[in-house]
Amino acid sequence: MLSTMQDVPLTVTRILHHGMSIHGKSQVTTWTGESEPHRASFAEIGARATRLAHALRDELGVDGDQRIATLMWNHAAHLEAYLGVPSMGAVLHTLNPRLPVEQLAWIVNHADDKVVLVDGTLLPLLVPLLPHLPCVEHVVVVGPGDRSGLADVTPRVHDYEELIAGRPTTFDWPELDERQAAVMCYTSGTTGEPKGVVYSHRSIYLHSMQVSLPESMGLTDADTTLIVVPQFHVNAWGLPHSAFMTGVNMLMPDRFLQPAPLAEMIERERPTHAAAVPTIWQGLLAEVTANPRDLTSMANVTIGGAACPPSLMEAYDKLGVRLCHAWGMTETSPLGTVSHPPAGLSAEEAWPYRVAQGRFPASVEGRLVGPGGEALPWDGASAGELEVRGPWITASYFGGADGENLRPEDKFSEDGWLKTGDVGVISPDGFLTLTDRAKDVIKSGGEWISSVELENALMAHPDVAEAAVVAVPDERWGERPLATVVLKEGATGTDYAALQAFLAESGVAKWQLPERWSLIAAVPKTSVGKFDKKVIRKQYAEGELEVTHL
Ligand code: AMP
Repeated sequence: MLSTMQDVPLTVTRILHHGMSIHGKSQVTTWTGESEPHRASFAEIGARATRLAHALRDELGVDGDQRIATLMWNHAAHLEAYLGVPSMGAVLHTLNPRLPVEQLAWIVNHADDKVVLVDGTLLPLLVPLLPHLPCVEHVVVVGPGDRSGLADVTPRVHDYEELIAGRPTTFDWPELDERQAAVMCYTSGTTGEPKGVVYSHRSIYLHSMQVSLPESMGLTDADTTLIVVPQFHVNAWGLPHSAFMTGVNMLMPDRFLQPAPLAEMIERERPTHAAAVPTIWQGLLAEVTANPRDLTSMANVTIGGAACPPSLMEAYDKLGVRLCHAWGMTETSPLGTVSHPPAGLSAEEAWPYRVAQGRFPASVEGRLVGPGGEALPWDGASAGELEVRGPWITASYFGGADGENLRPEDKFSEDGWLKTGDVGVISPDGFLTLTDRAKDVIKSGGEWISSVELENALMAHPDVAEAAVVAVPDERWGERPLATVVLKEGATGTDYAALQAFLAESGVAKWQLPERWSLIAAVPKTSVGKFDKKVIRKQYAEGELEVTHL
């Protein structure tokens, strides 16, 4: 028997409509670096998103599922593209300006982007690439920047404001199939070619509903969220779409992502929530330690994208800012788990839950798989690779404009679950704790050492700003940990034996203690601000690190 329910497609168009009408007064505030930020209401953003759709269709000839790329930081115009492009049936493709240029060019060509919307300030990155991007027919420049390099380029060049000015603020939006592509985003591609993940209208809609729930981020129109996580990194973790569903005000940092302007915008605009990777919060902590600022408005912060060191969580607790740990991937839209401890626990009892990666929402199923492919129990001790499935988890990677989508064996199980490459345990009450990336685990004498555990323990030392631990070859044990350490400003000298003793005191087993140590100026970071351990491994292999062997 079929249900009696209406079958209304779940589309970004609905999110756009809802936000601009029901929550029309909610605000998007964009940092400008000048005395006043730029402010726009959801009604204004929605109207401009509609004008953009007209411009793309009537002026630039976008009439189907052409890819419209954005090379932009977080701001109001980027949000307009987020809403307007998928609503007209085209596919938004967010580009990461921090990628190596060869990768960026590869991605644009692979996705077959027809239009690039680009921040004026990012033109120096785009212009030299244009001769290598034959698919790009139009470049639309947003905001200030030196446009002189555009004089001789092949694609037609437009100014965003001029392009959308005077166009209608209503649109006869097409009836879309909810399974149609809405947005695409490539994984950062640490090995091999980048892989394109294509989100559907339906997956975005369902994911936004989950983001909006109290068990996830749970924000309302009384909140303002500071979206530090870039809009080019997995749809800024779904916050913009979720905000348009529920009226959450947005504070957008544009390109001002350094600790000092972030601290200033928090103190001045008083967001109640924020979202970013741990390195952002590390940097901000160092900043406010040196130059105190009031961060207390930001009662609730979502931290993820990399493991949150418990010492970081503790430090923010002291500042009145509660970090809430979440896990996800480009492939998972990204929300995979969020760590709200079960109700009724004391602060002490809640702590192990807070530092874990968290629980799966109802729509995400997880399982742990052992080295022989066997299912592992949720006993809090059996460690295996995490596999997930659900309506906002990708089932394949984009195969290119003319190719079939790809389902590499190392990424998907035979029965269709996504192999995350993350290793961890799940407690009987369903809390996931990740111990490592499969490729970062240190395999020493047949036993596994978690690099993340060592890093977390080291970063709790008062003199240590950052620490990254990698596996290095060892004749006797196969692999051993190399600890690379960044000292806090003002810390004098390094006593590796004392750091080793500190690790032992904090509970690290003796056989896991690193004997190789190296002092570095900064931990290399990936394009989305995570520790880039492959760079450290390479530096070690090429003898570029000064290593002390205890
Ligand atoms: P990306 O697709 O670039 O966002 O990277 C996804 C990967 O980031 C995951 O597979 C994890 O290895 C890592 N990651 C994300 N969130 C967390 C977290 N809370 N703790 C540990 N690792 C994380």
